[in-house]
Amino acid sequence: MTDLTGVSQLLNKVSDDPVLRTALDRAISSYWKKRKQVMERYPYVKELADEVRRIKEWSIDHMDKLLDKAIEAVEAKGGKAYVAETAEEARKIVGELVGTGKVVTKAKSMTTEELKLREFLIERGNEVYETDLGEFLVQFLGPKPMHFISPSIHLTREKVAEFLKDFMGVEVDKDDVEGMVALVRKFLRDKYFSADVGISGANAFAADRGAVFLIENESNIRLSISLPPKHIAVVGMEKIVPTMSDAWKVVEVISRYGGYKVTSYINTVMGPARRGDGDIGPEEYHVIFLDNGRREASKDPILKQTLYCLRCGACQYLCPVFGIVGGYWAGLESAYSGGIGVMWEYITGDKETSTQHAFACLLCGRCIEACPVRINQPEVLREIRRRLMERI
Ligand code: SF4
Repeated sequence: MTDLTGVSQLLNKVSDDPVLRTALDRAISSYWKKRKQVMERYPYVKELADEVRRIKEWSIDHMDKLLDKAIEAVEAKGGKAYVAETAEEARKIVGELVGTGKVVTKAKSMTTEELKLREFLIERGNEVYETDLGEFLVQFLGPKPMHFISPSIHLTREKVAEFLKDFMGVEVDKDDVEGMVALVRKFLRDKYFSADVGISGANAFAADRGAVFLIENESNIRLSISLPPKHIAVVGMEKIVPTMSDAWKVVEVISRYGGYKVTSYINTVMGPARRGDGDIGPEEYHVIFLDNGRREASKDPILKQTLYCLRCGACQYLCPVFGIVGGYWAGLESAYSGGIGVMWEYITGDKETSTQHAFACLLCGRCIEACPVRINQPEVLREIRRRLMERI
């Protein structure tokens, strides 16, 4: 049964949380300063974003064809490709590839959050470490990633200093952010070398070369997926674009709209290492293409725009509702958050709960201004509400 009271109670409660308000205010104002500088420095990026919208429209309309091409390219290079229709199927494939009693290093990935993969692998007796600093904090402090790019947006540096003191037994100055980063890096360094498996998502996937593209700033992804002997990439089917050149355009737009003047690393992985050719890196490359509602959504004239989403997080920073309740909007059970998160949850997860959260949107449309690919979230959220009203 639809329970809008539960949703409004949750959102009302968190809107009174002073720590959350401070953390969100700091993060949002810092993002807009950075975005202004980025747009001045790279004025061409708006045109590039329009091109990326066209690439995504074409790719979503030809998802099945691109998927076949992507599988062929992965296997031609000696990798193994899998198609998971559901979250359960994806977990099963990863579970078999990892086994039990293993050490796993993970790159930040919303798609693996959608699968609750870390929790699943830990339950099976593995040691799993998130290696992105923000995601590492979320792993231990919870409750879930609160933003696409900045998962620990809800945590103040004061709170992080407190946690590090408890977790590592070291006194840290709350204003010494670099010192805190160095501590976590040191802790993770041993894990990269002892890991049996590295797991990543994908920011884009080039069908012509079977290549995963991964953006990062901390070099943690590079270490997570190149030191262990096995690399598993979990790729939402909407990430596949036709060519390497298309994928480069996608990652550039994500970086710029994510507020990065310079992104430290863009990794591309095109297959397992071939020792005979002197390659270094994992000898096993497994790519799991995840459907979990995406193919059905690609045929829905309204919902399909969700699949153009690059997960840059810009709309979350401009949304007035997100500015008050942050990632709690979409619910604690959902990996996703914000208006776009409600849409993702509707496609990949719990339709009932996401429909309830759709009612929190003010339909102001500020998210369309922020979005590089101009996704009309109010239109989609209004449609999700309309579908509910038809049922009751
Ligand atoms: S909807 Fe647009 S702005 Fe929001 S995360 Fe997706 S691509 Fe970025």
